[in-house]
Amino acid sequence: MYGYIHSIETMGTVDGPGLRYVVFTTGCPLRCKFCHNPDTWLVKNGKKMSSDEILEDYEKYRPYLRNGGLTVSGGDPLVQIDFVSELFEKAKKKEIHTCLDTSGATFNTNPDRIKKFEKLLNVTDLVMLDIKHIEPEGYKTLTGGNLNETLSFLDFLAERTCCEVWIRHVIIKGYTYKTDCLYKLGYYIGGYKNIVALDVLPYHDMAVHKYERLGIEYPLKGVPPMTEEHAKKARAIIEAGMRDKLLGNESKY
Ligand code: SF4
Repeated sequence: MYGYIHSIETMGTVDGPGLRYVVFTTGCPLRCKFCHNPDTWLVKNGKKMSSDEILEDYEKYRPYLRNGGLTVSGGDPLVQIDFVSELFEKAKKKEIHTCLDTSGATFNTNPDRIKKFEKLLNVTDLVMLDIKHIEPEGYKTLTGGNLNETLSFLDFLAERTCCEVWIRHVIIKGYTYKTDCLYKLGYYIGGYKNIVALDVLPYHDMAVHKYERLGIEYPLKGVPPMTEEHAKKARAIIEAGMRDKLLGNESKY
């Protein structure tokens, strides 16, 4: 089967544990205001590649990827779920660790769709789930999408206890970098035992020139980038929410 691929990074250090071979697929139903890859939004912008071609290329780097593995990111990989399932199925036969980097957008409980998700998760070791905003309104404003898809996907992962989950969250001034939102996020995810890690990522505006080249107006014009220091503060607030949830305390918000 062929997939549509935006690019491949052979020594990724931020998309899962260890050094990773990262495949960025094209196609995404969201339009996050902070997206730094608007050129991945349309499936047709990708280059056609087969799962075998990708895995053959992976073999060249295998010695360096011993403690890592294969990550599929995007765009959103779930747009090409059949292709990613096939790629991961073949990867697992070669004993490669597989990681899916997604927002969970497109998840729904339609029986046919569920079957596809089950097939994919059977061959997925780790899901990096990007929760872009913890409030439905804020999520809609920031991404154009529906928070319920992300949270239902998290429930689905928890019910199956099939793979580990890392939560990723980007902090943006005026959108997600707010004490109540960060605490609420922590309080929400504190109830999930399958979550093993949390990445808090500072927003950056390095994609501004990409937008200019593509002739798209940059949606976060004037919003300042965030620093590691901000991320540290945000993380502490999220962890406070998680702690309260775990201890059975009432939510502060
Ligand atoms: S989910 Fe990722 S690729 Fe899609 S719009 Fe958001 S940041 Fe961009």
